[in-house]
Amino acid sequence: MQIGITGGAGFIGAALALRLQASGHTVYVMDAFTDYYDVELKLERAQRLQAHGIGVFDGNVHEELGTWCESHTFDALFHLAALPGVPGSLTEPHRYIEDDIAMTVTVLEAARTHGIPHVFFASSSSVYGEQTGALLEQQATGNVMSPYAAAKYSAETFCRTYHNLYDMNVTIFRFFTVYGPSGRPDMALFRFIEQALDGQPLTVFGDPVRDFTYIDDITRGMEQALEAKATGIFNLGASRPESVRDIAAMLSERFNVPVRSAPARTGDVSMTWSNTDAARQTFGYVPSFTLADGIERMIRWHLERR
Ligand code: NAD
Repeated sequence: MQIGITGGAGFIGAALALRLQASGHTVYVMDAFTDYYDVELKLERAQRLQAHGIGVFDGNVHEELGTWCESHTFDALFHLAALPGVPGSLTEPHRYIEDDIAMTVTVLEAARTHGIPHVFFASSSSVYGEQTGALLEQQATGNVMSPYAAAKYSAETFCRTYHNLYDMNVTIFRFFTVYGPSGRPDMALFRFIEQALDGQPLTVFGDPVRDFTYIDDITRGMEQALEAKATGIFNLGASRPESVRDIAAMLSERFNVPVRSAPARTGDVSMTWSNTDAARQTFGYVPSFTLADGIERMIRWHLERR
Protein backbone atom coordinates (compact mmCIF):
# COMPACT_ATOMS: atom_id res chain seq x y z
CA MET A 1 0.00 0.00 0.00
CA GLN A 2 0.98 3.65 -0.45
CA ILE A 3 0.94 5.19 3.00
CA GLY A 4 1.14 8.86 3.98
CA ILE A 5 2.12 9.95 7.49
CA THR A 6 1.79 13.53 8.72
CA GLY A 7 4.19 14.33 11.56
CA GLY A 8 6.44 11.56 10.23
CA ALA A 9 9.62 13.03 11.70
CA GLY A 10 8.02 12.88 15.13
CA PHE A 11 8.59 10.16 17.72
CA ILE A 12 5.67 7.88 16.82
CA GLY A 13 5.46 8.85 13.14
CA ALA A 14 9.10 7.97 12.38
CA ALA A 15 8.86 4.62 14.18
CA LEU A 16 5.63 3.81 12.33
CA ALA A 17 7.17 4.78 8.97
CA LEU A 18 10.11 2.42 9.51
CA ARG A 19 7.83 -0.44 10.53
CA LEU A 20 5.45 -0.06 7.59
CA GLN A 21 8.30 0.32 5.08
CA ALA A 22 9.93 -2.84 6.48
CA SER A 23 6.62 -4.66 5.96
CA GLY A 24 6.69 -3.81 2.26
CA HIS A 25 4.51 -0.71 2.10
CA THR A 26 5.67 2.43 0.28
CA VAL A 27 5.78 5.18 2.87
CA TYR A 28 5.86 8.96 2.46
CA VAL A 29 6.07 11.32 5.38
CA MET A 30 5.42 15.01 5.75
CA ASP A 31 6.69 17.11 8.64
CA ALA A 32 7.08 20.82 9.31
CA PHE A 33 9.95 20.31 11.80
CA THR A 34 8.27 22.59 14.32
CA ASP A 35 10.27 23.79 17.32
CA TYR A 36 8.06 22.32 20.08
CA TYR A 37 11.23 20.41 21.00
CA ASP A 38 14.78 19.98 19.66
CA VAL A 39 14.56 20.17 15.85
CA GLU A 40 17.89 18.29 15.60
CA LEU A 41 16.17 15.17 16.92
CA LYS A 42 13.51 15.42 14.23
CA LEU A 43 16.15 15.93 11.55
CA GLU A 44 18.03 12.84 12.81
CA ARG A 45 14.87 10.79 12.51
CA ALA A 46 14.20 12.18 9.02
CA GLN A 47 17.72 11.23 7.91
CA ARG A 48 17.16 7.70 9.17
CA LEU A 49 13.90 7.49 7.22
CA GLN A 50 15.59 8.74 4.04
CA ALA A 51 18.37 6.20 4.50
CA HIS A 52 15.62 3.55 4.39
CA GLY A 53 14.20 4.96 1.16
CA ILE A 54 11.27 6.76 2.76
CA GLY A 55 10.27 10.02 1.09
CA VAL A 56 10.39 12.95 3.51
CA PHE A 57 8.57 16.15 2.56
CA ASP A 58 9.40 19.23 4.61
CA GLY A 59 5.96 20.82 4.56
CA ASN A 60 3.23 22.25 6.75
CA VAL A 61 -0.11 20.43 6.85
CA HIS A 62 -1.97 23.74 7.18
CA GLU A 63 -0.64 24.99 3.86
CA GLU A 64 0.76 22.12 1.84
CA LEU A 65 -1.27 19.01 2.51
CA GLY A 66 -3.36 19.42 -0.65
CA THR A 67 -0.31 19.59 -2.91
CA TRP A 68 1.24 16.60 -1.18
CA CYS A 69 -1.92 14.51 -1.56
CA GLU A 70 -2.26 15.51 -5.22
CA SER A 71 1.20 14.19 -6.01
CA HIS A 72 0.58 10.76 -4.39
CA THR A 73 -2.13 8.12 -4.46
CA PHE A 74 -2.46 7.21 -0.82
CA ASP A 75 -4.33 4.10 0.28
CA ALA A 76 -4.18 5.30 3.87
CA LEU A 77 -3.20 8.46 5.69
CA PHE A 78 -1.96 8.45 9.29
CA HIS A 79 -2.42 11.88 10.86
CA LEU A 80 0.14 12.22 13.63
CA ALA A 81 1.17 15.86 13.21
CA ALA A 82 0.01 17.86 16.20
CA LEU A 83 0.95 20.26 18.90
CA PRO A 84 1.32 17.89 21.87
CA GLY A 85 1.70 18.53 25.58
CA VAL A 86 -0.69 19.48 28.37
CA PRO A 87 1.19 22.38 30.08
CA GLY A 88 1.51 24.52 26.93
CA SER A 89 -2.16 24.14 26.21
CA LEU A 90 -3.02 26.06 29.38
CA THR A 91 -1.01 29.09 28.33
CA GLU A 92 -1.73 29.02 24.58
CA PRO A 93 -5.11 27.33 24.10
CA HIS A 94 -5.76 28.92 20.71
CA ARG A 95 -2.70 27.28 19.21
CA TYR A 96 -4.16 23.90 20.17
CA ILE A 97 -7.41 24.72 18.40
CA GLU A 98 -5.34 25.49 15.31
CA ASP A 99 -2.89 22.57 15.43
CA ASP A 100 -4.99 19.81 16.96
CA ILE A 101 -8.54 20.57 15.81
CA ALA A 102 -8.29 22.68 12.63
CA MET A 103 -5.33 20.67 11.31
CA THR A 104 -7.32 17.44 11.73
CA VAL A 105 -10.24 18.93 9.80
CA THR A 106 -7.77 19.90 7.05
CA VAL A 107 -6.64 16.26 6.90
CA LEU A 108 -10.21 14.92 6.80
CA GLU A 109 -11.11 17.38 4.03
CA ALA A 110 -8.01 16.42 2.04
CA ALA A 111 -8.89 12.73 2.41
CA ARG A 112 -12.44 13.41 1.23
CA THR A 113 -11.47 15.52 -1.78
CA HIS A 114 -8.60 13.25 -2.86
CA GLY A 115 -10.49 10.02 -2.29
CA ILE A 116 -8.08 8.61 0.31
CA PRO A 117 -9.88 5.47 1.52
CA HIS A 118 -8.74 5.37 5.16
CA VAL A 119 -7.66 7.97 7.74
CA PHE A 120 -6.00 7.05 11.05
CA PHE A 121 -5.99 9.72 13.75
CA ALA A 122 -3.67 9.94 16.77
CA SER A 123 -5.70 10.78 19.84
CA SER A 124 -4.75 10.55 23.47
CA SER A 125 -5.59 8.95 26.80
CA SER A 126 -6.09 12.51 28.07
CA VAL A 127 -9.61 12.44 26.58
CA TYR A 128 -10.69 10.33 29.59
CA GLY A 129 -10.10 13.19 32.03
CA GLU A 130 -9.84 12.40 35.73
CA GLN A 131 -11.10 8.80 36.11
CA THR A 132 -9.82 5.65 37.76
CA GLY A 133 -9.69 2.01 36.68
CA ALA A 134 -8.94 0.39 33.34
CA LEU A 135 -10.86 2.63 30.95
CA LEU A 136 -13.04 1.44 28.10
CA GLU A 137 -13.37 3.51 24.93
CA GLN A 138 -16.97 4.51 25.71
CA GLN A 139 -15.92 6.07 29.04
CA ALA A 140 -14.63 9.24 27.36
CA THR A 141 -17.39 11.82 27.70
CA GLY A 142 -15.61 15.10 27.03
CA ASN A 143 -15.23 15.85 30.74
CA VAL A 144 -11.52 16.64 30.35
CA MET A 145 -8.86 18.52 32.34
CA SER A 146 -6.86 20.53 29.76
CA PRO A 147 -7.23 22.41 26.48
CA TYR A 148 -4.97 19.77 24.89
CA ALA A 149 -7.43 17.03 25.89
CA ALA A 150 -10.37 19.17 24.80
CA ALA A 151 -8.72 19.66 21.41
CA LYS A 152 -8.09 15.93 20.95
CA TYR A 153 -11.64 15.08 21.99
CA SER A 154 -13.00 17.66 19.60
CA ALA A 155 -10.78 16.39 16.75
CA GLU A 156 -12.11 12.89 17.44
CA THR A 157 -15.63 14.25 17.08
CA PHE A 158 -14.73 15.67 13.66
CA CYS A 159 -13.30 12.27 12.66
CA ARG A 160 -16.57 10.61 13.63
CA THR A 161 -18.56 13.29 11.80
CA TYR A 162 -16.67 12.61 8.57
CA HIS A 163 -17.22 8.89 9.02
CA ASN A 164 -20.96 9.43 9.52
CA LEU A 165 -21.37 12.04 6.76
CA TYR A 166 -19.20 10.61 4.02
CA ASP A 167 -18.92 6.96 4.96
CA MET A 168 -15.16 7.52 5.22
CA ASN A 169 -13.09 4.82 6.94
CA VAL A 170 -11.72 6.49 10.04
CA THR A 171 -9.77 4.95 12.90
CA ILE A 172 -9.00 6.77 16.13
CA PHE A 173 -6.11 5.53 18.27
CA ARG A 174 -5.92 6.67 21.87
CA PHE A 175 -2.27 6.38 22.82
CA PHE A 176 -1.25 5.90 26.45
CA THR A 177 2.09 7.54 27.43
CA VAL A 178 4.32 6.23 24.66
CA TYR A 179 8.02 5.80 25.49
CA GLY A 180 11.10 4.33 23.86
CA PRO A 181 14.30 5.22 21.98
CA SER A 182 14.25 8.55 20.14
CA GLY A 183 11.31 9.63 22.27
CA ARG A 184 9.94 13.06 23.06
CA PRO A 185 12.21 15.21 25.26
CA ASP A 186 9.27 16.77 27.12
CA MET A 187 8.06 13.41 28.44
CA ALA A 188 8.91 12.07 31.91
CA LEU A 189 11.05 9.04 31.04
CA PHE A 190 13.15 10.92 28.48
CA ARG A 191 13.67 13.69 31.04
CA PHE A 192 14.52 11.28 33.87
CA ILE A 193 17.12 9.40 31.84
CA GLU A 194 18.78 12.62 30.66
CA GLN A 195 18.76 14.01 34.21
CA ALA A 196 20.18 10.74 35.59
CA LEU A 197 22.96 10.59 32.98
CA ASP A 198 23.83 14.22 33.77
CA GLY A 199 23.99 13.39 37.50
CA GLN A 200 21.07 15.77 38.15
CA PRO A 201 18.07 15.25 40.47
CA LEU A 202 15.00 13.65 38.88
CA THR A 203 11.98 15.96 39.13
CA VAL A 204 8.61 14.31 39.73
CA PHE A 205 5.52 16.51 39.41
CA GLY A 206 2.84 15.34 41.85
CA ASP A 207 2.35 11.59 42.24
CA PRO A 208 1.01 10.43 38.87
CA VAL A 209 0.31 6.91 37.67
CA ARG A 210 0.76 6.25 33.96
CA ASP A 211 0.09 3.37 31.60
CA PHE A 212 3.52 3.51 29.91
CA THR A 213 3.39 1.86 26.47
CA TYR A 214 6.49 0.89 24.53
CA ILE A 215 6.80 2.41 21.05
CA ASP A 216 7.06 -0.99 19.27
CA ASP A 217 3.80 -2.15 20.84
CA ILE A 218 2.13 1.05 19.61
CA THR A 219 3.40 0.82 16.02
CA ARG A 220 2.59 -2.91 15.84
CA GLY A 221 -0.96 -2.13 16.95
CA MET A 222 -1.24 0.58 14.30
CA GLU A 223 -0.03 -1.79 11.60
CA GLN A 224 -2.45 -4.48 12.75
CA ALA A 225 -5.32 -1.99 12.54
CA LEU A 226 -4.23 -1.02 9.01
CA GLU A 227 -4.11 -4.66 7.89
CA ALA A 228 -7.47 -5.46 9.48
CA LYS A 229 -9.01 -2.28 7.99
CA ALA A 230 -10.39 -1.68 11.48
CA THR A 231 -12.50 1.42 11.99
CA GLY A 232 -13.69 3.00 15.23
CA ILE A 233 -11.94 4.07 18.43
CA PHE A 234 -9.21 1.97 20.04
CA ASN A 235 -7.10 2.35 23.14
CA LEU A 236 -3.46 1.47 22.50
CA GLY A 237 -1.91 1.09 25.92
CA ALA A 238 -0.07 -1.45 28.04
CA SER A 239 -2.99 -1.98 30.46
CA ARG A 240 -0.45 -1.73 33.28
CA PRO A 241 -0.50 1.42 35.42
CA GLU A 242 2.87 2.33 36.96
CA SER A 243 3.76 4.92 39.58
CA VAL A 244 6.02 7.58 38.05
CA ARG A 245 7.49 8.11 41.52
CA ASP A 246 8.49 4.40 41.70
CA ILE A 247 10.19 4.59 38.31
CA ALA A 248 12.09 7.70 39.42
CA ALA A 249 13.12 5.88 42.63
CA MET A 250 14.44 2.94 40.60
CA LEU A 251 16.47 5.21 38.31
CA SER A 252 17.64 7.27 41.27
CA GLU A 253 19.09 4.17 42.92
CA ARG A 254 20.72 2.93 39.74
CA PHE A 255 22.34 6.26 38.80
CA ASN A 256 22.85 7.51 42.32
CA VAL A 257 20.95 10.77 41.89
CA PRO A 258 18.27 12.22 44.18
CA VAL A 259 14.56 12.55 43.40
CA ARG A 260 13.03 16.00 43.77
CA SER A 261 9.29 16.44 44.31
CA ALA A 262 7.46 19.30 42.64
CA PRO A 263 3.76 20.17 42.81
CA ALA A 264 1.44 18.40 40.37
CA ARG A 265 1.03 20.37 37.16
CA THR A 266 -2.41 21.84 36.51
CA GLY A 267 -4.16 19.97 33.72
CA ASP A 268 -2.33 16.67 34.27
CA VAL A 269 -4.63 13.83 35.31
CA SER A 270 -3.52 11.67 38.23
CA MET A 271 -3.94 8.30 36.49
CA THR A 272 -4.09 6.74 33.04
CA TRP A 273 -4.94 3.07 32.58
CA SER A 274 -6.18 1.43 29.40
CA ASN A 275 -8.50 -1.43 28.78
CA THR A 276 -7.32 -2.74 25.39
CA ASP A 277 -9.91 -5.49 24.84
CA ALA A 278 -11.41 -3.71 21.80
CA ALA A 279 -8.04 -3.54 20.01
CA ARG A 280 -7.28 -7.16 20.91
CA GLN A 281 -10.63 -8.46 19.74
CA THR A 282 -10.72 -6.37 16.54
CA PHE A 283 -7.15 -6.67 15.26
CA GLY A 284 -5.20 -8.85 17.67
CA TYR A 285 -3.34 -6.13 19.60
CA VAL A 286 -1.43 -7.55 22.57
CA PRO A 287 1.25 -5.32 24.14
CA SER A 288 4.32 -7.41 24.93
CA PHE A 289 7.13 -5.18 26.25
CA THR A 290 7.81 -5.02 29.96
CA LEU A 291 8.61 -1.60 31.40
CA ALA A 292 12.04 -2.85 32.53
CA ASP A 293 12.95 -4.00 29.02
CA GLY A 294 11.63 -0.81 27.45
CA ILE A 295 13.59 1.39 29.85
CA GLU A 296 16.79 -0.61 29.18
CA ARG A 297 16.40 -0.03 25.45
CA MET A 298 15.80 3.64 26.09
CA ILE A 299 18.87 4.01 28.30
CA ARG A 300 20.99 2.33 25.63
CA TRP A 301 19.73 4.82 23.02
CA HIS A 302 20.43 7.82 25.29
CA LEU A 303 23.95 6.55 26.03
CA GLU A 304 24.73 5.91 22.35
CA ARG A 305 23.53 9.38 21.36
CA ARG A 306 25.87 11.18 23.79
P1 NAD B 1 5.94 14.54 18.06
O1 NAD B 1 5.85 15.96 18.49
O2 NAD B 1 7.22 13.83 18.22
O3 NAD B 1 5.46 14.41 16.55
C1 NAD B 1 4.58 15.31 15.92
C2 NAD B 1 5.26 15.81 14.65
O4 NAD B 1 4.34 16.65 13.95
C3 NAD B 1 6.50 16.65 14.90
O5 NAD B 1 7.62 16.09 14.25
C4 NAD B 1 6.15 18.03 14.33
O6 NAD B 1 7.26 18.67 13.72
C5 NAD B 1 5.07 17.68 13.33
N1 NAD B 1 4.15 18.80 13.07
C6 NAD B 1 3.57 19.63 13.97
N2 NAD B 1 2.81 20.54 13.33
C7 NAD B 1 2.90 20.27 12.01
C8 NAD B 1 2.34 20.86 10.84
N3 NAD B 1 1.53 21.94 10.90
N4 NAD B 1 2.63 20.31 9.64
C9 NAD B 1 3.45 19.23 9.55
N5 NAD B 1 4.02 18.64 10.62
C10 NAD B 1 3.75 19.16 11.83
O7 NAD B 1 4.78 13.77 18.86
P2 NAD B 1 4.52 12.21 19.06
O8 NAD B 1 4.79 11.88 20.47
O9 NAD B 1 5.18 11.44 17.96
O10 NAD B 1 2.95 12.17 18.87
C11 NAD B 1 2.33 11.86 17.63
C12 NAD B 1 0.83 12.03 17.81
O11 NAD B 1 0.37 11.18 18.85
C13 NAD B 1 0.40 13.45 18.21
O12 NAD B 1 -0.84 13.71 17.61
C14 NAD B 1 0.23 13.35 19.72
O13 NAD B 1 -0.68 14.29 20.20
C15 NAD B 1 -0.31 11.93 19.84
N6 NAD B 1 -0.06 11.33 21.16
C16 NAD B 1 1.20 11.04 21.57
C17 NAD B 1 1.40 10.45 22.82
C18 NAD B 1 2.76 10.08 23.32
O14 NAD B 1 2.84 9.51 24.43
N7 NAD B 1 3.84 10.34 22.60
C19 NAD B 1 0.30 10.16 23.63
C20 NAD B 1 -0.97 10.48 23.18
C21 NAD B 1 -1.15 11.05 21.93
